[in-house]
Amino acid sequence: MKAQDTTDGAAALSFFSGWTYAPAPESSDHIRLQDRYGLFINGAFVPPKSGRHYVTVNPATEGALAEVADAGEKDVDAAVSAAKRAYERTWSRTPAKERAKYIYRIARIIQERAREFAVIESMDGGKPIRESRDVDIPLAANHFFYYAGWADKLPYAFPNRSPRPLGVAGQIIPWNFPLLMAAWKIAPALAAGNTVVLKPAETTPLTALKLAEVIRDSGLPDGVVNILTGFGKTGAALVAHPHVNKIAFTGSTDVGKLIQKAVAGTAKKVTLELGGKAANIVFEDAAIDQAVEGIVNGIFFNQGHVCCAGSRLLVQEGVADAVIRKLKERMETLIVGDPLDKNTDIGAINSKEQLEKISSYIAIGVNEGAELHQSSATLPSKGWFCKPTLFLHTSQSHRLVQEEIFGPVLAVQTFRTVEEAIEKANNIPYGLSAGVWTDKGSKIFNMTSKMRAGVVWANTYNKFDPTSPFGGYKESGFGREGGLHGLLPYVHL
Ligand code: NAP
Ligand code: MG
Repeated sequence: MKAQDTTDGAAALSFFSGWTYAPAPESSDHIRLQDRYGLFINGAFVPPKSGRHYVTVNPATEGALAEVADAGEKDVDAAVSAAKRAYERTWSRTPAKERAKYIYRIARIIQERAREFAVIESMDGGKPIRESRDVDIPLAANHFFYYAGWADKLPYAFPNRSPRPLGVAGQIIPWNFPLLMAAWKIAPALAAGNTVVLKPAETTPLTALKLAEVIRDSGLPDGVVNILTGFGKTGAALVAHPHVNKIAFTGSTDVGKLIQKAVAGTAKKVTLELGGKAANIVFEDAAIDQAVEGIVNGIFFNQGHVCCAGSRLLVQEGVADAVIRKLKERMETLIVGDPLDKNTDIGAINSKEQLEKISSYIAIGVNEGAELHQSSATLPSKGWFCKPTLFLHTSQSHRLVQEEIFGPVLAVQTFRTVEEAIEKANNIPYGLSAGVWTDKGSKIFNMTSKMRAGVVWANTYNKFDPTSPFGGYKESGFGREGGLHGLLPYVHL
């Protein structure tokens, strides 16, 4: 890599290496998918009482992968009844040390089958294999390992508070990190002694069904975990079921509001992990090249389908030109295409609907008067793809700045003072995450204490660990997942 001086005084990065990349597709001939899946209820796959199935597709090819069941109200009732029975007769009487062994076993089997999980995750959801292989699947296994460790140590987690499980947890998850979100939900619930009914998102049901096979193979007692595929209606029926004691929801703020209304006046405990619109804030004293990598990771990781994505860039005026130029150069190097190719940086958009939503926001941005820039990547002719995109000259009132797009679209603003950065970062309805890039530790502490964001990364972005709590403020929801805090929503004290 060669550096040369440019007009804005910052060295330009030359990414030209003389290399071209041959296709490097991960093979998919080792994965095993059934043509048609039932619902996982009481330890076995059963045909849906609803009699309905639908097809889950690969967003990179638009081809069908498998038929999955669409659970109706009777199916929800069967799953909740199985979970209640398992809670009363088995799981609440299983010693904590034994619970831990099952959770460990689930973690180990996920590790053993990691390659198959990664390929299926990329095929069903569109994310690059590098991410599913190196992030989603290992982190999912780590969550089970971590919470297995807590199962027999709950009295130490809550000293002198006698933690008791709640009963049946109804858990609803989105499509952006399908297996990982299932792990975030199931692992702490089991560790705390609850039983589970999980509803994956309609476009990404396959790794949850694979997880059902793992759970069956782990010997976990029947009914302790039940998995219901279906649509929004299935989720709504689960929320409404009278024998569900707790709802854990990750998804959009709109559906989160519906759920909060639905459980008002009931004894159900709720946690809501909702949308976000994080500010990634770059100060003049930051290490600029690292910050550019952090901006790219913040908005283009998983096609920007990330609740904590750094979808707003706030850059201090003195370095704005240099940062934007380097960012544009770096965007040119991003490879958009086949999610199963190991060189791919940006895979497929999860669904046609999501691509339409992203495209409508790009049109809104142009209409609002912001300046559009996209990389010159060529997109595959089949499947749903979007070029890495940024908008310059956005202002605080723009919808691009205020609303969650959930795609590879970055809104760029500038600022002069620390106060202005904090004001702009906080002046949105969401409060899930933020990033700060600066050489000064004191500035980091000043910023983190004044930002209304559940997670603030300093000189890095999108770092996840099972030991660390995650969750939001304001319209990003309430409750925490991960770490010791992640046990609290699953116990009575
Ligand atoms: P979504 O439309 O809210 O869906 C989330 C889940 O809820 C899906 O399983 C969905 O089923 C189900 N659902 C839909 N309508 C329902 C209803 N009326 N009652 C109960 N359940 C219902 O969100 P999404 O588009 O899948 O996911 C993207 C959103 O998730 C973004 O806003 C993102 O920020 C958020 N997210 C937040 C976090 C976090 O930790 N804070 C993490 C990841 C994602 P169907 O799929 O069948 O519609
Ligand atoms: Mg799919």
